[in-house]
Amino acid sequence: MEPVLELKNINYAYHTLEGETTALTDITFSVAPGEFVAIVGPSGCGKSTLLSVISGLLQAEKGLIKINGKYLRDSTTNIGYMLQHDHLFEWRTIYHNVLLGLEVQHMLSARSRAKAHELLDLYGLKHFSDSKPSELSGGMRQRAALVRTLVLEPDILLLDEPFSALDYQTRLSVGDDIGQIIRNAHKTALLVTHDLSEAVSLADRVIILTDRPASVKTILPVTFDLREDTPMHRRNAPEFKTYFNLIWKELNQHE
Ligand code: ADP
Repeated sequence: MEPVLELKNINYAYHTLEGETTALTDITFSVAPGEFVAIVGPSGCGKSTLLSVISGLLQAEKGLIKINGKYLRDSTTNIGYMLQHDHLFEWRTIYHNVLLGLEVQHMLSARSRAKAHELLDLYGLKHFSDSKPSELSGGMRQRAALVRTLVLEPDILLLDEPFSALDYQTRLSVGDDIGQIIRNAHKTALLVTHDLSEAVSLADRVIILTDRPASVKTILPVTFDLREDTPMHRRNAPEFKTYFNLIWKELNQHE
């Protein structure tokens, strides 16, 4: 099966008045359709930079990125981006927040509005369509942010620490919830997280990055022998600890 996303020998450096900071060096990996890949690495190693390069916000200095077989610059594939903060606007209702991306991309139509209503309903936000963001819990706000992303029908979802602003308990349930939504929608997802449990409970593969400048240290396939493969069941399975410890060891092993 052709990968949705392919990165080959990607390099990126920031150039500032103070000098040059190389953030990524020789990054190569690919992601299959419908795959959920988590990216972990030491703080400041280059994880967010990597997502920005994939999204096209930053341009790689070397290497190539292909999306659905096309070079990034020629690609018409929709990429959804979800960040730590939900960036919902308080002066707009939840419904009008969900429409924002469609408005910006001139994609508002009867069909896309119907899709927005359908997703709000599907993800339990129907009765909050006319509410303001401040009337929702942190978890529901993140759901609304996800609906705003999904309504654009992205082929790839880039998730940059989307749950880290939530308190621990909310993070667990929202992480599980949103992970399941993404899986059930058969979306290809790339999740940057510093939370190893989150990576093991959600991902099909975990990419472990080195210290800055980030390069790929190890790619670990994560498979569980479960009848119902949900994040909650994973957390209670014996393999969970093994994967957690493996990643922990990789992250703390310095050559
Ligand atoms: P991570 O997401 O893994 O914490 P980042 O990708 O945010 O790491 O940053 C990687 C490195 O690049 C860090 O050392 C950071 O200081 C540097 N960096 C990030 N953004 C900029 C910028 N706009 N200008 C200069 N350096 C930057």
